[in-house]
Amino acid sequence: MARVGAMFEEARIGLRAMADRIEDLARPTLRLGVTGLSRSGKTVFTTALVEALTHGGRLPVFEPFASGRIAGATLEPQPDDAVPRFPVEEHLRTLSARDWPHSTSRVSELRLAVRYASRRGAFGRGGLRSLTLDLVDYPGEWLLDLPLLDMSYAEFSRQSLELARAPGRLEVAREMLDGLAPVDPAAPADEATARALAGRFTAYLAACRAEKVAMSLLPPGRFLLPGDLEGSPALTFAPLDPGPARPPSGSLAAMMERRFEAYKASVVRPFFREHFARLDRQIVLVDVLAALNAGPEALADLERALDSILLAFRVGRNSLASALWRPRIEKVMFAATKADHLHRSSHDRLEAILRRLVERAYGRARQSGAQMDVVALAAVRATREANVVRDGRTMAAIAGTPEAGQEAGGQIFDGETEIALFPGDLPADPGAFFEAGGQGFRGLASGDADFRFLRFRPPAGIGAGRPVPHIRLDRALQFLLADRLD
Ligand code: GDP
Repeated sequence: MARVGAMFEEARIGLRAMADRIEDLARPTLRLGVTGLSRSGKTVFTTALVEALTHGGRLPVFEPFASGRIAGATLEPQPDDAVPRFPVEEHLRTLSARDWPHSTSRVSELRLAVRYASRRGAFGRGGLRSLTLDLVDYPGEWLLDLPLLDMSYAEFSRQSLELARAPGRLEVAREMLDGLAPVDPAAPADEATARALAGRFTAYLAACRAEKVAMSLLPPGRFLLPGDLEGSPALTFAPLDPGPARPPSGSLAAMMERRFEAYKASVVRPFFREHFARLDRQIVLVDVLAALNAGPEALADLERALDSILLAFRVGRNSLASALWRPRIEKVMFAATKADHLHRSSHDRLEAILRRLVERAYGRARQSGAQMDVVALAAVRATREANVVRDGRTMAAIAGTPEAGQEAGGQIFDGETEIALFPGDLPADPGAFFEAGGQGFRGLASGDADFRFLRFRPPAGIGAGRPVPHIRLDRALQFLLADRLD
């Protein structure tokens, strides 16, 4: 039965892929996924990307734009009726008022038509070709759910609890683990116990996301971003210790297992089929600085999450049928966001740290078939570089306006005053972060005060016709789009 279900699922995905390909012949289309964990910068990135393509910007490294071959880009009607539209106009208005837009908590889409002159001779309307670009913005928490598809409930239990006992997590996991200790998985199923366990498990996952802990690998993703599934049985399960091999029917473990399977069937699989399996390219945004700021355990956890992401790109791609039918993700870019919290001299170093993380994960995941690249960027640059003279020495600093109400170094900021800070230097050798014991990162500082977790307001002038300032957004566009605008 399970096999018939799987074949049916394969067929559905295959038919969808075929329909997408036929449409692609008539109308060349590129589906670009934008993902990353909550607050990694997806909303800001997608908004900045659309603004750069539709209104232009300073994009010297994005060849089709820099050479003048892009004639323009326009917003087009939404391709999929059942998917919310990415509200780019609203986000731009928010940015132009110097506030950050509301973050992504669900999937949304936006379609652009990019008109360009091909380097290989022009034909089509007015001598121009057109590429339809579908942007699909979705939570990275959902991507990290994909490896669950290949996991049994017992495996999920074992992995989750092993992770909860890892250094850096044990402290926030204590209450959840204590609550689990007296529970007998073979006891009769009981809704109140299931709810209490799920509640503690969810609270533990949420605590792992706190800024100063900054853990990355936290499946199941909907426990953190439940949307309209909040309170449903598919979200009312938790790992049990020890993960039972064959739970007796009617037991708590059997109920948990059933709900875990329901989560896979009603949440993870539809996401895979409707969204993930249809992507051609992907950018994964990673808040590497947040992990560096939180310490070596957060960095180790980020590495585990990257392992899991690379695994996600391989899920379900190992049968002959899927090899024949499914469009593969051809290119994946990993981007370290918020590089404007560092001085220019550290941007390459931030990139090198992420490259090191991704390459190590890539080595473990073995081939995934996709071409990969890494960049450190700021989609919207909120700081500028400044020189500060101290004791007769000129020192490189960054200047920005902290958000109103932010507190750091004993000060509360008013949202209007610009301050200059010394960004911590990243080590020239990324290995310094990965050696035994790891190395802490001081991040932004001023004298002895710690400004690591400070947030700056967006710059003035967005939406006033001036290009949005950024760092290396053009490098990301070059990797992700340029060859399709050739
Ligand atoms: P999402 O949850 O992945 O959609 O994240 P957002 O795009 O909403 O970004 C979360 C927060 O990160 C924003 O509210 C900003 O405070 C910050 N942020 C995102 N991108 C940038 C950037 O390019 N520069 C700076 N300085 N902050 C950023």
